[in-house]
Amino acid sequence: MIAEVKTLSGYKYCEKTFQNSISCVGVGVHSGKKANLTFKPAPVGTGIEFHRVDITDKNNVIPAKYSAVADTRMCSCIANADGVSVGTIEHLMGALHGFGITNAIIEVDGPEVPILDGSAEDYITLFECAGVREQEAPLKVVRILKEVCFDDGKGASACLYPAEKGLSIDFMIDFKQSKAIGRQEYSIDVNYKTFKNDIAYARTFGFAKEVEMLRSMRLARGGTLENAIVVEGDTVLNPTGLRSENEFVVHKVLDAVGDLYQLGMPVIGHFSGVKSGHMHTNELLRKLMADETAYEIITMDEAEKLSLKTVQTKVA
Ligand SMILES: [Zn+2]
Repeated sequence: MIAEVKTLSGYKYCEKTFQNSISCVGVGVHSGKKANLTFKPAPVGTGIEFHRVDITDKNNVIPAKYSAVADTRMCSCIANADGVSVGTIEHLMGALHGFGITNAIIEVDGPEVPILDGSAEDYITLFECAGVREQEAPLKVVRILKEVCFDDGKGASACLYPAEKGLSIDFMIDFKQSKAIGRQEYSIDVNYKTFKNDIAYARTFGFAKEVEMLRSMRLARGGTLENAIVVEGDTVLNPTGLRSENEFVVHKVLDAVGDLYQLGMPVIGHFSGVKSGHMHTNELLRKLMADETAYEIITMDEAEKLSLKTVQTKVA
């Protein structure tokens, strides 16, 4: 998750923002509304902030924090105390996490972030065009110290475990109702390279029979075969098929990378998801942060020293 950099300030790992602003435009998968999105550089300590520029009579700033998550029915939606919200931030958050952006202001002129092609690939392209600027502050991380799990009692769970370095994820899904998905497992060490090459491409997915129900809930109104994998029974309806055999479970990993970044900093730990979704990850993060013995916030430089010590002890 964390790209190594040489910084002027003497820290091996530092906070980062965009070099330049960059914009895109697209449709929200649930609202069906067109939205303009602009990524802007931000000073040290800002974190990731959404600014609803179409709202001028209320506080329009929404920090991308787990504690601001308001709705996890079909996506991650965050809201501030004035009830101003922005939805479907998870793929964008995954790309920021994968790309190592610590501070950014994201202006959006509607209630939902564009879905683009349903994956995080377009964000990576945008971020590469905008460029990265190193900042004069050490990168902080959340280091997991003990196992924390959220189990919904219905067979789905999301857990975090201590790990020596970086973020690793394993995920299992089991869709008995469709042979097109079935049971899939995937595990990966998450860093800039693996995020870009092995995770970012995976598109969101849904079932054709759910579309009518979702539309009655005012959801999925912008969903098409251009921005989601749509499954009907045992068949994938998209004429171009899947981007990989296990695209479904890889997309769940992308969602987890995005949702975990709502901690406000990278994680040193192992995440394990079993049939879990946005709600499970959010409950897990709330449980983690409520237990001060379960984590520590340190600089990445310190975390690396600790992991080196562990390795040396093992060798000895
Ligand atoms: Zn997703």
